[in-house]
Amino acid sequence: MLKNPDYITARNLLVDTISPVDTEEVSLAECIGRVLAQDVIAADNVPPFDRSPYDGYALRSKDVVNATKEKPVTLYIIEEVPAGAVPTMPCTKNTAVKILTGAPIPQGADCVINYERTEFTDSSVKIFEPIKAGSNIVLAGEDVRKGDVLARKGQVIDAGTAGTLASQGIAFPKVYRRPKVGIISTGNEVSEVGAPLAPGKIYNSNRYTLAAALEQLGCESVYLGLAGDNPGAIRDRMVKGLEECDAILSTGGVSVGDYDFTPDAMEQAGINILLRGVQLKPGMACAYGEKNSKLACGLSGNPASSLTNFHAVAVPALKKLAGRNDYMPQEITVTLKSNFKRKSPTLRLLRGTLDLSDGTVGMTLPEEQGNVVISSAIGCNVMAIVPAGSGPLEAGTTLKGFLT
Ligand code: AMP
Ligand code: MG
Repeated sequence: MLKNPDYITARNLLVDTISPVDTEEVSLAECIGRVLAQDVIAADNVPPFDRSPYDGYALRSKDVVNATKEKPVTLYIIEEVPAGAVPTMPCTKNTAVKILTGAPIPQGADCVINYERTEFTDSSVKIFEPIKAGSNIVLAGEDVRKGDVLARKGQVIDAGTAGTLASQGIAFPKVYRRPKVGIISTGNEVSEVGAPLAPGKIYNSNRYTLAAALEQLGCESVYLGLAGDNPGAIRDRMVKGLEECDAILSTGGVSVGDYDFTPDAMEQAGINILLRGVQLKPGMACAYGEKNSKLACGLSGNPASSLTNFHAVAVPALKKLAGRNDYMPQEITVTLKSNFKRKSPTLRLLRGTLDLSDGTVGMTLPEEQGNVVISSAIGCNVMAIVPAGSGPLEAGTTLKGFLT
C-alpha cells in the first residue's frame, strides 16, 4: 500500500488497475455520448461513384478542344440524369448528357460544364470554351476511401461520429456499456435533502455532486445509501456495491479521527487498499482500493476536497473503465485572471473557469478555494496545478492545468 503518494502516482496506479467494461450493440439513435467499442472502417467509397457537383452538361473534353466564343461547338443532348438516377447510355462523339448535382457521370464523359457557361435548348447545348478532362467531377472516394479508418475504438460518439457511422450504414454500433458506479455517503451528521434539517445535521451534498460528475463522464450512478458512522453499515454497502456495480465511491471517514471508519470498512469488505492519502490540496485524505479489479474510492467528506481528489485521482481510471481512449488528461497552460493570496506548501489544484474572452486561455478563480465550499465549484471546468512550495500568485501567472 502506498502512503501519501503524489497525485500523478496515485492516478496512474488506479489507471493500471482498471480495464474497460464489456460491450453491447445499441441503436445509433441512442448512441450520442456513448463510447465506441469498435473501429469504424469505410466499407465503401464516399461518394460511391464519380458525380457532378453542378447542374450542367457532362461531355467528352476532346469534342470541345476548338470551341471559342465566336465558334461554339454544338453537342446533342442524349438524355437527362437527375440525382438519384443512373445514366442509361454512354456519352459518345458530339453528344452531351444533361446532368444534375449529385448525379453519376455517364460512361465516356470526362468533364462537366455548369449550365451558366452554356447556351442550351432541350435538344442541344452550345459550348464556348475548351474544358480540361476531369473538370467538375467529384471522384468516387474523394470524401472517404474504402478501407480508411473513420473512427477509433474508445472515441466518444459526437455529432461527426454519429454521421460517419450512419454514412457507413451502421445501425447498431458496438459501444461500451455505461459503467455503473455506486455512491455511499457516511457521517452521522449527514441527512438527505427533502426533509427539514435537525440540529447538528447537514444536507448530503456529496451524493449529488458526485452523481453529476459521474453522469458527465458517461457513467450511471447508483445511490447505495447513507451509512452514518457505522463501520458495519459502511462495509455492507461496499460489499453490495461491489457486487452490483463496476466501481464504488464513498465520502467521509477517511481521515484519522475517532469516527473515521471507512478504510477499516473497506478492508472488511474484502477491498485490497492500494493507497491512502495523496499529496494534494484540497483532497489530501482519501483511500483507494480494488476488489476483483473493481475500483473502490474512499473520498473525503469535505465537498471541495472530494471533488478535487475525484478529478485528479479517480477520473482517468473511471474514463478508462468507460472504454475511453482519451482517459489521460491533456495538459494545458492557463493564465490566472486574478491574484491567489495563499501559499501552497503542498501541491495545490486551483479550481476555476476557463476565460477565453481576450482570445487567450485565461482562468477565473472563485473567491473561495477552501475545502468545504461546494458553491465555489459552480461553473468550474478547469484545474490549475500550483507546484508545492509556491508562494502567493499574482494575476498573469501561467500555470499548467487540465480540463475537468
Ligand atoms: P469527514 O471526511 O467524514 O471527516 O467529513 C469532513 C467534513 O465533510 C465534515 O464537516 C462533514 O460534515 C462533511 N461531510 C461529510 N459527508 C458529507 C456529505 N455527504 N455532504 C456534505 N458534507 C459532508
Ligand atoms: Mg465523517
